[in-house]
Amino acid sequence: MTKRLYYDKSDLLEFDSVVEEVTRGEESADSKSPRVILRETAFYPTSGGQVHDTGWIAIGNDRLRVAEVVEAEDGRVVHYLEGPLKPSTAESQTFAVAGATVHGIIDEERRRDHMQQHTGQHVLSAAFLALYNFPTVSFHMGEDYCSIDLATESLSEQQVTGAGNRANEIIFENRPVTIRYVRRDEAEKLGLRKLPPAEREELRLIEVADFDLSACGGTHVNSTGQIGFILLRKTEKTRQGMRVEFVCGMRAVQAARRDYATLTESASLFSSQSQDVPLMIHKTFEESKILRKQREDAFAELATAMAEAILRTSSTGSRRVIVRAFPDRDTSFVKLFAQKLTRSGSPVVALIGSTMNPPGVVFARSPGESADMGALLRETLSAVGGRGGGSKDFAQGGVPAGSNLEQLLQVAARKIEN
Ligand SMILES: [Zn+2]
Repeated sequence: MTKRLYYDKSDLLEFDSVVEEVTRGEESADSKSPRVILRETAFYPTSGGQVHDTGWIAIGNDRLRVAEVVEAEDGRVVHYLEGPLKPSTAESQTFAVAGATVHGIIDEERRRDHMQQHTGQHVLSAAFLALYNFPTVSFHMGEDYCSIDLATESLSEQQVTGAGNRANEIIFENRPVTIRYVRRDEAEKLGLRKLPPAEREELRLIEVADFDLSACGGTHVNSTGQIGFILLRKTEKTRQGMRVEFVCGMRAVQAARRDYATLTESASLFSSQSQDVPLMIHKTFEESKILRKQREDAFAELATAMAEAILRTSSTGSRRVIVRAFPDRDTSFVKLFAQKLTRSGSPVVALIGSTMNPPGVVFARSPGESADMGALLRETLSAVGGRGGGSKDFAQGGVPAGSNLEQLLQVAARKIEN
């Protein structure tokens, strides 16, 4: 097992160590990146819901980027370096020798962020447990936000606010966060918030003074004030309970800034104050609902009037084939217009199209007409690579952009006029 220097000092950002093993990219089957194992390390490997550190391993004057850190099954910490080591270079030669002395440097900003999120999680989980008896069943740390899953069927707005407020109180009180080690049988008597599966004899306990005691292998701040602030965000139902998303420290500041920018932009679009945005959205919805209805009514009247005008001017008596292509009406209007024509009482076949994007056609007939609209449409469209279908009475389809719609309709009309 690799000795973990972060176990006793989460804020240790630089350390000296010795190379135990190097696997070059070309030798390892699962990855192209060289893998380095050190005798001891302050790099945190992805585990227990917390993501890994990044940083550098320096040898002499050369610095190699540590892109990923994982925990092997045998308990050794594996550092993945960025990019392949060139076999001819000096650092590669030195690295390849077990026993070489190196200097590790942890990416400070990322580590601080992880410490804030992770300790924030301890405080938040303890708050949910203390206030509402909701145990945390899992923890996830993402690049943007973190989440915990609570073993509860439901979670009210007040409970979310209550737990958030309690957690922030604990943060403002700046309580010490300490590390200690105990034997498993001792730990069982201490009333830990969460006892890990029985695989280790000695447990590492993280204590938030007079508030939370739990076994954990992660990196934490030294006192709760360093968490900065905790902001609870989305909640959602999951298979195992309720998920609560949260952000701590600078992430909370960034999230609040982003939200504010979105809100400000929305408010300026409405020329309103930001607190009036929901009201403005509601009003806009209502207005657009009314406008949509008015538009539908107007189009229905227009279609009726146009159908009547056409039927008045064209010859009466025998069947009429009406062909029309609209450049400024969409397919739903075309459909409406075809219906008005074919339901007028006189025998009509309507071959109507729209050249608006996406272009389309509607073929419809009055009751009692013999021409098969579905068959005619399929035949017409297959010639230009369009698609569509329907019944003998009514059919509709799409026409590829750029087709000569007018001509297409005339060809279809000739087929049934003969
Ligand atoms: Zn922890």
